[in-house]
Amino acid sequence: EHQLGRIERHDGALNSFITVTPDAALEAADHADAARARGEAGPLTGLPVAIKDLFCSDGVLTTAGSKMLANFVAPYDACVVERLKAAGTVSLGKTNLDEFAMGSSNESSAFGAVQNPWDTTAVPGGSSGGSAAAVAAGLAPAAMGTDTGGSIRQPAAFCGITGLKPTYGRISRWGIIAYASSLDQAGPMARTAEDCALLMNAIAGHDPRDSTCVARGVPDYTADLAAPLSGLKIGLPREYFGDGLDPAVEAAVREAVAVYESLGATVREVSLPHTHYAIPAYYVIAPAEASSNLSRYDGVRFGHRCENPSDLIDLYKRSRAEGFGEEVKRRILIGTHTLSEGFFDAYYKKAQQVRRLIRQDFLDAFEEVDVLMGPTSPTPAFDLGAQKDPVSMYLQDIYTIAVNLAGIPGISVPAGFVGKRPVGLQILGTHFAEQRLLNVAHRYQ
Ligand code: GLN
Repeated sequence: EHQLGRIERHDGALNSFITVTPDAALEAADHADAARARGEAGPLTGLPVAIKDLFCSDGVLTTAGSKMLANFVAPYDACVVERLKAAGTVSLGKTNLDEFAMGSSNESSAFGAVQNPWDTTAVPGGSSGGSAAAVAAGLAPAAMGTDTGGSIRQPAAFCGITGLKPTYGRISRWGIIAYASSLDQAGPMARTAEDCALLMNAIAGHDPRDSTCVARGVPDYTADLAAPLSGLKIGLPREYFGDGLDPAVEAAVREAVAVYESLGATVREVSLPHTHYAIPAYYVIAPAEASSNLSRYDGVRFGHRCENPSDLIDLYKRSRAEGFGEEVKRRILIGTHTLSEGFFDAYYKKAQQVRRLIRQDFLDAFEEVDVLMGPTSPTPAFDLGAQKDPVSMYLQDIYTIAVNLAGIPGISVPAGFVGKRPVGLQILGTHFAEQRLLNVAHRYQ
């Protein structure tokens, strides 16, 4: 009731939710109370959560932030939603996002922009902007996001919360509306690393319905949170402190790194030499996969259907023209082009080769250091409406995108402010090093 009241009072302006489900939430809260009375409560029993509107929720509108799915009521729960329910959490509803998770500002949503709670003239980041804003504004203590190129970490940074993108394959993608399947990964967004660890305990683990989800034991992510950091080897990638980094963001990040030194860590510079190619490689691979994934929205089986089609081709054309927004169409066109005969080897295949080099950069760095640190984003949250050129928007993701190409985990933790706007410190680890990242993040908080 407390959280629903806050949503009612504050979300008119913020617009962080697309759908609020008060009746289902109160019913789930009653079940949680009953479980508690029976002595069956777990650590998350009764915890309210907000879910990015990219996860299918049984019987609940699931829009992906698109007009294409504006009337789509999912007939089943995503694996993550199932597991959150099984853990006794109470879903408050579905949060706003960039259309089909394509964006860095939440402004491409068909359901309108979201305000940053710290400064309402700023974007909350994207694509999980609604989840980040909802947690930052105290509308929900925790939320779920997805991260294909930074969509958990960058909005977490812009909204002053903690967001973890786990290793690719750590969490099931089953029931998450696909953007770029080889990059998409779900993860928790909350106030602290400790809260993220509790959520990870509930959502991580093998799911046979996602063939890329790894069958590997799930540790207790809360177990090592307080472990000492003496002897921790931190690498600062030279390429993450170069041109384009706001000096005030750099100062905040270096101050955070100094705190780690005072906790007994050692710091050295490392190099990720192919960083420069991450955005071009991503903007070949992600749109290629998106154009393929989004071909299912044909106006026939589900999703938006145009009025009075004259024939099948007219049905496809007008349903897709009306249902998709501008950014999504841009990605579909880029992806269709790069996958087409004669261009595939030059673009898609080449991008996959570059991707392998980017992954190797990280593996080489982790031979020398335990974690990498740097800024999550080169600037604090920018003004709503300020980024008009798509390429300059794409360049904002310079520090987050390579992480998805490599499949490694990354966490963004709050590291001060520039004026009213929060700054995020990004901490990266090798594959399946989530426990280490949460420990390192926790010791700073
Ligand atoms: N901003 C990036 C994009 O637009 C990443 C989005 C995401 O991680 N879903 O593709």
